[in-house]
Amino acid sequence: MKQRHLSWIELSRDALNSNIAALERLARGRTLAVAVKANAYGHGLAEIASLLQENPAVGALSVHSVDEAIGVRAAGWDRTVMVLGPTDISQIEAVFEHDLQPTVFEKTFLSTLGKAADKRRQSAFTHLKLETGTNRQGITAAEMPDFARIYHEHKYLERPYGAGMHFANIEDTTNHEYARYQLKQFQALLKEMARLGIKPKICHTASSAAMILFEKTLFDLVRPGIAVYGHWPSKETYLSYRLEGNDNDLFHPVLTWKTRITQLKKVPPDSFVGYGCTYRTTSTTRLAILPVGYYDGYARSLSNTAYVLIRGRRAPVRGRVCMNLMMVDVTDIKGVKVGDEVTLIGRDGSEVLTAEQLGAWADSINYEILARLSPLIPRIIR
Ligand SMILES: *Cc1c(COP(=O)(O)O)cnc(C)c1O
Repeated sequence: MKQRHLSWIELSRDALNSNIAALERLARGRTLAVAVKANAYGHGLAEIASLLQENPAVGALSVHSVDEAIGVRAAGWDRTVMVLGPTDISQIEAVFEHDLQPTVFEKTFLSTLGKAADKRRQSAFTHLKLETGTNRQGITAAEMPDFARIYHEHKYLERPYGAGMHFANIEDTTNHEYARYQLKQFQALLKEMARLGIKPKICHTASSAAMILFEKTLFDLVRPGIAVYGHWPSKETYLSYRLEGNDNDLFHPVLTWKTRITQLKKVPPDSFVGYGCTYRTTSTTRLAILPVGYYDGYARSLSNTAYVLIRGRRAPVRGRVCMNLMMVDVTDIKGVKVGDEVTLIGRDGSEVLTAEQLGAWADSINYEILARLSPLIPRIIR
């Protein structure tokens, strides 16, 4: 008999390809470097990397770490891999072995990489991160001459291959003044690089929100993440886009998270449900027990707040979400049986439960709801 999983994630190949097509139109010919960090935003790194390998519109994948980069190579990805986060000096061999393009913001790393490249007589392709106002990883104009010197010292160090920046305030506001300020800073730093003889071959700044809202941020390569998976970066991005008179049929969610009812029970009025006795029934209540908890990535802050979908109807979460289990109220849903499918994120009939809605209830955002889905949940491509 085919093994049934306690919960599973379904990935829609069609939705993914249609989102890529929408982003390809927005990118107007620029290289699409899809962000697959955080286990492909919780969707599953290996599954998404292999699906994107089938799609020739995607030119590069960007990951956070060298470990993730090795994961996408193992999944069969054979085009460019950019590492957005820090690479440790101890990982330089892996950079060459797996043909990775690290982000650079630290001098010792760059000179060590340069020495290794010269020794191997193998070109190293790096992306210099520029500081324009996010104050995270970038380097300033004052630091630039030292980096330029290192780039010039090493024959096999492309000088540099790319230069990038990241916007601090483009998702969470409809006021894009700070984004424009950062873009100006970026242009000034690029000028400084040219003056020092280290003009990059490709420049990049755009995440999903930037791509959707500002053509000026596209440069040579774009780095969309959340939109690839069918989600808007924020309500504000969506509003800004709609205010321009565009329709909303741009992205389609790729992920559905499902489980099954493992147990049903009838509890009398005035019964407490779950840890902390936070919920008490007022009438005879039919509870369904689900084999999913905060360990799997179902946020505990959804206790007594969210609902799940069963037979196309809403079943409210009762009591606290446990580590591996949760309870929902199915009193008013007819015909519910043990083994019935339950939708935790996704659509069931005319009802839909989005990562955005769960994010709002959990005092978080769609990004976190998705990224925290346990990597151990089986992923099934549809
Ligand atoms: C995660 C990330 C992106 C993608 O951002 P989205 O908002 O998910 O499109 C782009 N660039 C950098 C540097 C990132 O870290």
